[in-house]
Amino acid sequence: DYQNYQAPEGALQGKVILVTGAGDGIGREAALTYARLGATVILLGRTTKKLEAVYDEIIEAGYPEPAIIPLDMKGATESHYRDMAATIEDQFGKLDGLLHNASILGVLSPFTHIDLPTWNDVLHVNVTAQFMMTKALIPVMLKAPSPRIIFTSSGVGRTGRAHWGPYAVSKFATEGMAQIIADEYENTSLRVNVINPGATRTAMRARAYPAEDSGKLKTAAEIMPVYIFLMSDAAAGITGESLDAQTR
Ligand code: NDP
Repeated sequence: DYQNYQAPEGALQGKVILVTGAGDGIGREAALTYARLGATVILLGRTTKKLEAVYDEIIEAGYPEPAIIPLDMKGATESHYRDMAATIEDQFGKLDGLLHNASILGVLSPFTHIDLPTWNDVLHVNVTAQFMMTKALIPVMLKAPSPRIIFTSSGVGRTGRAHWGPYAVSKFATEGMAQIIADEYENTSLRVNVINPGATRTAMRARAYPAEDSGKLKTAAEIMPVYIFLMSDAAAGITGESLDAQTR
């Protein structure tokens, strides 16, 4: 019952885990949660101030000192990701976990109204940047004893829905990318899975559903059990799966 998974204290002790979009929303909560369980987290995001605030919170709580990587996935090229992988290898010698959480919504609109720059931006940040980052990091991850990659999907990554255009297409691609990598590394200890967070109280959700009462939504903290489970040694037998963080 991974939606109610309770990790033992120190479950992620000694692990080095990179979280993208760690400055806000679900990524921020995941970074704090992994740090609480003993991991050294690498906070990646585009707004340095937000990353620094999460860094401070982690230090104040007495968790392992995190690292910060300010990076805009919209502009970053393969060489940025290669340099990042080299820096992580130098500093830590391995990478145990990678949570692909950052993504952008783009603009919700009828299909024929989607403009190409919006389409390209959403596909670039949500798919191409994740491809480049994963490609660069897998060699460093294979130096860890039980590496884990988690991708983030959405309900519209499994069934298309009117007006969700490039965001939904990007999430279908994310599901596919995870399955491909999982299949290629099935005979290693690398495990690759997907989480669909479900409706969660964040800035992105509020942009997509401006009229709803956000007080009725689950908080990021409430959906953490599956994020912990898939990152932990408890999930050793699971790969190529797409799990829901919330019961429907
Ligand atoms: P938020 O928009 O609240 O947070 C997204 C984070 O990603 C932010 O920290 C943001 O940085 C970062 N980010 C965005 N673009 C870039 C970029 N170009 N480079 C680096 N970092 C970037 O979203 P949520 O927390 O709601 O969503 C997290 C994940 O969960 C996403 O993949 C989303 O698609 C998925 N999801 C969320 C749902 C929900 O209900 N909230 C439902 C289904 C899926 P900054 O703070 O600087 O903007």
